[in-house]
Amino acid sequence: MSGKIRLLILGLTSCLFIGCAVNPITGQEELMFISEKQDLEIGQKYAPEIEKQLGGKIDDESLQNYIDSVGQRIARISHRPNWEFHFTAVEHKMVNAFALPGGHIFVTKGMLKKLTTEAQLAALLAHEIFHITARHSSAAFSRQMGLSFVLFGLSAAGAKIPQDASRAAGIALQLIGLKYSRVQEKQADVAGLDYMVAAGYNPHGAVELHQMLQEQDKVRPVEFLSSHPSPKNRIISLNARIQTRYDSPEGLRIGKNAYRTTVLDRLPSIVDPASDGLDHLTN
Ligand SMILES: [Zn+2]
Repeated sequence: MSGKIRLLILGLTSCLFIGCAVNPITGQEELMFISEKQDLEIGQKYAPEIEKQLGGKIDDESLQNYIDSVGQRIARISHRPNWEFHFTAVEHKMVNAFALPGGHIFVTKGMLKKLTTEAQLAALLAHEIFHITARHSSAAFSRQMGLSFVLFGLSAAGAKIPQDASRAAGIALQLIGLKYSRVQEKQADVAGLDYMVAAGYNPHGAVELHQMLQEQDKVRPVEFLSSHPSPKNRIISLNARIQTRYDSPEGLRIGKNAYRTTVLDRLPSIVDPASDGLDHLTN
């Protein structure tokens, strides 16, 4: 039997016995080792640990409600409008954002300080929301944790998810470092742009977000870009899509004043993003 045929059979049987997920963009079935129910279990189990690793929740209810309201507006028009999403601003100084299986999205204080409009925040959250709705996060988790962990470490009821604190912390770090493929990043850029416009946001916020990240990256490597392969034409692709699909964004929300008063004016200044001693997060 040739290697290709063997792989095909393995793929088909794996699909039958383990499961497939339909990519909402391509409509194609993709091999998926964890169920949507297990997504929720992973999120519920590790979100508190990840929040802790990222310096804890920013203690500002108005700011949290604002981030959540922007995220929920986008989540409701996403491919999974009925899924429960949670948006949390965390204290960490690095410039980054994370999406966990099960609908948990974290954005760091370092990132929030670098944004200047609500539309830029919407672009960031829309990109992360798509990683969840397309189950990129679930696929990356199963790939990084290994098939054996996923099959035998997670029970259907989640009862075997490791309970000891150090193991949970290790897994939380793996979740923070989830890596996506270039194709998945491109899909998240495209779908994120469509999501934010559908939610009423000016798409130029997405271009501004990526311009900021690239500028930051020249000064100091930006973790968001290290976990998100950044082809040079990413901004060009976004601009091209805006020109062909959204060439009249007048009237769509930018939200500069709202972002300044609800986020920037409420966040104390950050001394030095490099001095936080959490280099492992960039791996
Ligand atoms: Zn991404």
